Amino acid sequence: MKKIILTGLRPTGNLHLGHYFGAGQNYLKMQNDYDFYLEIADVQALTDNFDNPEKVRKNVYEITKDLLAIGLDPNKVHFFIQSQIPEIAELTVFYSNLVTVSRLQRNPTVKNEIAQKKELFGTNGESITYGFLGYPVSQAADITVFDGELIPVGDDQLPLLEQCREIVRKFNSIYGDILKEPQQVLSSSTRVKGLDGNEKMGKSLGNAIYLIDDEETINKKIMNAITDTNKIKKDDPADPEKCMVYYYHNLVNTTENTNKVCSECKKGARGCVTCKKELIKAMNDFLNPIKEKRKHYEEHPELVTEILNKGTMEAQIKAKNTMKKIKEAMKINY
Ligand code: SF4
Repeated sequence: MKKIILTGLRPTGNLHLGHYFGAGQNYLKMQNDYDFYLEIADVQALTDNFDNPEKVRKNVYEITKDLLAIGLDPNKVHFFIQSQIPEIAELTVFYSNLVTVSRLQRNPTVKNEIAQKKELFGTNGESITYGFLGYPVSQAADITVFDGELIPVGDDQLPLLEQCREIVRKFNSIYGDILKEPQQVLSSSTRVKGLDGNEKMGKSLGNAIYLIDDEETINKKIMNAITDTNKIKKDDPADPEKCMVYYYHNLVNTTENTNKVCSECKKGARGCVTCKKELIKAMNDFLNPIKEKRKHYEEHPELVTEILNKGTMEAQIKAKNTMKKIKEAMKINY
């Protein structure tokens, strides 16, 4: 029996290179090694997009097409929609008795997100909603309702997993040894920097290349990418480590070409415009097969619906079985 691995993505926008190198590549490996549950976390997306349900609904399908386009196989991955598993909401209510409000307020990941969403939650988090504050509890329900044993997380997500483990321990200490304590799988993948040199690529930062970007958009974005500001003329030597164009050559170009970029840049033997044009070509070569595959699903949206329905049904069966055990343990199996 393969171990169960569970991960989720919030459907708030299309996937970009940060998602691909930061998570997607890992998913491609995981689908072969584990029983892989992939949650399209629409309920979680609504915690800070509650006033924009059309955006969340549209992106459930968009993100699924992106994931299929990068090569995830619906015969190996259970793609499911969080809102269609009512057991998750039910379990969230049960777990809400096992965690204090102050513990949630102290959770570093939650604190960080509140600080980043001042427009929505106020300067000091005074407008924070009950739903947003409680999303780590809902995540604990996501994980445990599928008996999730392994959870791929980045460093910034570790406090959420620890919160889940605390809930599991508390639950088991009261109701018996029912739930599995999930373990982290630390992601071996890369955190991708933005075109502007920011440590993180993100939609809200406006510094991302999306998997669906057309050639004209890619052209414009790369032409505006940050280079070594000390290089003024074509034959000025420069430091490729200070240049985002070189950084992206490293991600999508061949090792041979990337080494050539590096040595020519250091010697002042290449101009930035040529260098950017070469990157545009390498980027298109990298993204075109993904876009080609995605086109197939755009032309056949019924396939995407079928895949989501199938995965959701499989997830519902699993969730119902776990919930039966939980309700027996909690003596609410009337
Ligand atoms: Fe960057 Fe290329 Fe210009 Fe060097 S030559 S600074 S690597 S764009």
